[in-house]
Amino acid sequence: MADQLIRATAADGGIRAVGAITTRLTEEARNRHKLSPEATAALGRTMTSGLLMASSMKRPGSRVNVRVKGDGPLDGILVDAGLDGTVRGYVGNPAAELPPNAKGKLDVGGVVGKGFLYVVRDIGYGYPYSSTVELVSGEIGDDIAHYLVSSEQTPSGLIVGVFVESSGVTSAGGLLVQVLPKAARDEALVETLEARMAALSDFTRLMQAGKTLPEIFQDLMGDMGLSIFPETQMLRFHCGCSFDRVLGALKMLGQDELEDMIVKDNGAEATCEFCGNVYQATQDDLAQLIVDLQMDSASG
Ligand SMILES: [Zn+2]
Repeated sequence: MADQLIRATAADGGIRAVGAITTRLTEEARNRHKLSPEATAALGRTMTSGLLMASSMKRPGSRVNVRVKGDGPLDGILVDAGLDGTVRGYVGNPAAELPPNAKGKLDVGGVVGKGFLYVVRDIGYGYPYSSTVELVSGEIGDDIAHYLVSSEQTPSGLIVGVFVESSGVTSAGGLLVQVLPKAARDEALVETLEARMAALSDFTRLMQAGKTLPEIFQDLMGDMGLSIFPETQMLRFHCGCSFDRVLGALKMLGQDELEDMIVKDNGAEATCEFCGNVYQATQDDLAQLIVDLQMDSASG
């Protein structure tokens, strides 16, 4: 099934739910960055969380940046997700691995380690809204849910999962359910929802059982006045980097550095951290940047 996101409401708009399937984009990230299974799960869960959080923003162009800084061998995660359904991200150490945890599963909490979660919401103008919380478990889902409750004060249930086999990612996705103030007073409703979310717990198992997002919403909120939005939004791994941007970054190094690169390195090679694309600037490209710099200073 194609990567996609669907939205729903229940309890007269008092409950907001978003579900996402992210199998292909997680597999693309695995291939681009040559990720270990643990790194694949950690990055896939974070990208899915970012997309789920970005989906509730209003203004076109809005994006959410999620940075996980832990002391484990993964050496951090950075994800950039947009309301437009695009996401990109990388980890510090793509090869990070650990033995399975006590449950016999990928030890995502172990590779992430202890540390902090930083979330920046950028609506495209003015100051971005940013917030930091301590990591709860490093398993990502718990950490993001804790952030939503403590920082944004919205009771939230978040489930994210990535299933990696030797052939690659076979299922990935997640579900975010938020209780808005007008429904939060209904304790019985909140308790029922929490119990059902806890029972779902393993999102990838639902996907492997062939459950669609509307069916999962139905199981969760079918008796709570569920209304599923008819639009399906497509999701994809996408990075906005380009050769022009790389040249712009090289130009900022200044004339001396550029001359050095021409003489010593016969050009320059730059790799985009977010997507792994490699850009080659030739000696001629660099010489042109020096001409540009000289023209800038002559006119400025
Ligand atoms: Zn890129």
